[in-house]
Amino acid sequence: MSEPLRACDLLPEDVASDDCLSSYTHIYSPDLLKDQVAFITGGGSGIGLRIAEIFMRHGCDVVIASRNMDKLKEVAKKLCAASGRRCLPLCLDVRQPESISAAVEETLKEMGRIDILVNNAAGNFLCPATALSFNAFKTVMEIDTMGTFNASKVVYEKWFKDHGGNIVNISATLGYKGQALQVHAGSAKAANDAMTKHLAVEWGPSRVRVNAVAPGPISGTEGFRRLGGPKGEEAGLFQSIPLQRAGNKTEMAHCALFLASRASSYVTGAVLVADGGSWLTSANDFSRLMGIVASQSAKL
Ligand code: NAP
Repeated sequence: MSEPLRACDLLPEDVASDDCLSSYTHIYSPDLLKDQVAFITGGGSGIGLRIAEIFMRHGCDVVIASRNMDKLKEVAKKLCAASGRRCLPLCLDVRQPESISAAVEETLKEMGRIDILVNNAAGNFLCPATALSFNAFKTVMEIDTMGTFNASKVVYEKWFKDHGGNIVNISATLGYKGQALQVHAGSAKAANDAMTKHLAVEWGPSRVRVNAVAPGPISGTEGFRRLGGPKGEEAGLFQSIPLQRAGNKTEMAHCALFLASRASSYVTGAVLVADGGSWLTSANDFSRLMGIVASQSAKL
């Protein structure tokens, strides 16, 4: 007789591409976000797309907002078909506060409210500090850090100040040990973790909670592919992680769902590290990572 599966072996469903899940088993009540509205920056791909889908599967309507409108429209159709909820695609650049203002106004006109803001938009690539241009560093800070502040401030002023709400920032663990080749993203996300706490303090009295999820290596994402993810998996790269595997996008969406919902009603200013324990044990080997980058550029 086969052994029953243990709880620790039951991972949530995921697909590697930017598509919706073909099946989904609820862990939380399917009504957890019923009739709420979430505004998700970078919701057209990767982790942001899966957050949008999981929120919709819990009764939420969503806005997915980023720069590429064609991609957003296509994804919005898939999300509506998979969940039966509303998804409004809107064009913005988080570096431009006016474009965020226009998108938030459109959201309030179309959806009538905003309950959740997910600051997920980010830019990243591997690059040693010596090869990183001043402009590249500035761009990542502008998208990841200033973009998070811009979207938070606009949504707070236009809605959360008077109605309360939940902000979930998508962070990273890169700055914890000074991850090689990531001075730009690590610095930007470290600033965001500080911002999470500052805004939690200032906006708590307005019934706004501000929290963050810090993913580790997550399969089915661009970042994972650039880090040699699938090949790294075969080479046993993830054996050094306490949970001995990469995470998946649905696992990250479940963390965001917890923080965005009443399941975490007394939590604010927290960073939920969701990395299988990776940052505690993974090597931070500058030479090895330089080798991966060199072999990738040789293939281009
Ligand atoms: P992704 O698929 O590249 O998603 C990034 C999204 O941000 C894209 O949809 C992009 O859409 C949008 N974006 C980029 N620049 C923008 C701008 N200026 N204005 C508005 N939107 C912009 O990446 P991902 O891997 O899913 O990452 C999602 C989040 O998780 C990021 O915050 C990332 O730092 C974090 N994270 C990921 C991992 C991982 O293993 N993948 C690990 C740790 C943390 P457009 O091109 O249409 O603008």
